[in-house]
Amino acid sequence: MRRKLAAGNWKMNGTGAALAELEALAQTIGTPGCDVLICPPATLLHRAARAAQGSAIAIGGQDCHAAASGAHTGDVSAAMLADTGASHVILGHSERRADHGETDAQVRLKAQAAIAAGLTAIVCVGETLAQRDAGDTLAVIGAQLAGSVPDAVTGATLVIAYEPVWAIGTGKVPTLAQIGEVHGFIRAQLTDRFGMQTGAAVRLLYGGSVKPANAGEIFAVGDVDGALVGGASLKAADFAPIVAAL
Ligand code: 13P
Repeated sequence: MRRKLAAGNWKMNGTGAALAELEALAQTIGTPGCDVLICPPATLLHRAARAAQGSAIAIGGQDCHAAASGAHTGDVSAAMLADTGASHVILGHSERRADHGETDAQVRLKAQAAIAAGLTAIVCVGETLAQRDAGDTLAVIGAQLAGSVPDAVTGATLVIAYEPVWAIGTGKVPTLAQIGEVHGFIRAQLTDRFGMQTGAAVRLLYGGSVKPANAGEIFAVGDVDGALVGGASLKAADFAPIVAAL
């Protein structure tokens, strides 16, 4: 049985003052029936991990470099994330693919590095609106999975987040049937490649305009094991009801 996961991606939002939201969230959710993860910007990781200590909230990064160390100005390695107290890292988010030209091959190397450092890799996939309109959604997702997911993964080291690019920050959400179709497809792809046991153990998150008002119906869709939430993860008052819906 897969334990559900409510993951918040703060993106490039938050200075020290935002830790008050983390503390408020920890208080509000208490001991929830699902896993809860907050991924603050790298500058806050260490303090966030300290603030979350003793609570139900795990802390994660939003990216890492594929190399363990070296001449990569401005980058952060997986081991460095782990050293702050982070246990997870989001990789291959569509904003990084768009802003930094990240390729599937790079995401795969990053995921390998993350897993080697003891982190759980949350690998993001998702189609653009043009790709959906062209009927290419499943082909795009299939190629991203094949290219971005490393060969050695388990249900403990890999999470997949399905985030349609056109649903991120737009208030637009796919129909429940569309979400179910893609999640079922991802599950089948993972099972084909990694076998029944691992395929059934990897958690699949939906991401894109998840709010307290739509979380319940999205979480009821088959093969949806939680959410990767952007805007609605910034405030404890918005994220706590999403956690409660799981
Ligand atoms: P929003 O929840 O703001 O649409 O963002 C989704 C997302 O990109 C999470 O990684």
